[in-house]
Amino acid sequence: MNWALVGASTIAEQFMIGAIRSQPGAEIRWVVSGTAARAAEVAERNDIDGFSDDLAVALSDPAVEAIYISSTNATPLPQTLDAIAAGKHVLCEKPIALTVADAQSMVVAASERGVVLATNHHLRCSGSHRAVRDVIRSGRIGRVLSLRLFHAVALPAALQGWRIFDPAAGGGVVVDITVHDADVVRFLLDEDPLSVVAQTANSGLGQGVEDSAMSIWQMPSGAMVMSHESFTHPHAGSGLEVHGTTGSIFAQGVMTQRPVGEITLITDAGHDVIPYSDHDLYAFGVAQFCAAVAGHGSPAASGADGVKSLAVAQAVLAAAGSGSRVHVNYEGRV
Ligand code: NDP
Repeated sequence: MNWALVGASTIAEQFMIGAIRSQPGAEIRWVVSGTAARAAEVAERNDIDGFSDDLAVALSDPAVEAIYISSTNATPLPQTLDAIAAGKHVLCEKPIALTVADAQSMVVAASERGVVLATNHHLRCSGSHRAVRDVIRSGRIGRVLSLRLFHAVALPAALQGWRIFDPAAGGGVVVDITVHDADVVRFLLDEDPLSVVAQTANSGLGQGVEDSAMSIWQMPSGAMVMSHESFTHPHAGSGLEVHGTTGSIFAQGVMTQRPVGEITLITDAGHDVIPYSDHDLYAFGVAQFCAAVAGHGSPAASGADGVKSLAVAQAVLAAAGSGSRVHVNYEGRV
């Protein structure tokens, strides 16, 4: 498959260029950036022939079938709509838009044009999260009572740009990390949060945006979900716990970009270490995307999954702002 990258971003260079190139027959033909010089730099550094500051140039290349969008969070809407209109399949970074209504419009456009729209929610691609889901589905922990999710980390210095001061670009920990956690919970429990209560804080890094959040989500099954995200916790570690009527799963260090961490299942029978596949998370997501484009199955996380994770994050922000319970509005209508 031939690709164009839209956004000369850190995630593209750190993970996605390698993930795309790990697929058989993959070629990256273009990198498009808002700045011509950055496009040239990233193209040069990564051995990509085409570069431009004009998306239309890459979209007019008939050999390009797929677009990976990782520009700052303010721009995916027009870029995605343009790519879809040009008949290209789109793998878009999370959050796929800044409003649920905008995200919905992307899903509708892709469906009408008959192209694949996917969201790059990498965590559901990890072997560890898939193993946790398998244990839940096996019934070994019984009925799920609660899920506690720990995703309070230290934002690396190199990423302390728009994320900590620019709400218009999608800054703030909720739009950045809570969307991932919403996707993980939906993936593991196979149900969509109904409502949330939440509190956000600025614990020293955010400048006009929240850098920490805690929230509690009501699930249709009655399971309780507790989620904690932060940019300011260097030593908190990450992970999740799923507690059921007959067992508990402890997955430590698994809210990451790499296939690491430990999973333990505790039941009346004792402690079991749960093995999992250590495949590359991003390569797995790209492979699923390519298969979906070829007509085999669905992407790991669809555009609709991106809408839903964003809707939960928006509900968390609204609940923190109002101090009241907020029902998750998956339709984006106000
Ligand atoms: P970056 O800040 O590295 O890049 C975002 C955009 O900022 C780039 O596309 C580029 O814009 C511009 N930019 C980057 N570096 C510079 C620079 N030195 N000078 C000027 N402009 C620059 O963001 P990330 O890679 O961290 O995130 C990009 C997207 O990916 C976000 O939507 C984020 O939420 C998502 N993400 C997803 C992850 C995942 O695991 N799924 C992990 C990390 C991020 P231009 O378009 O003009 O090139």
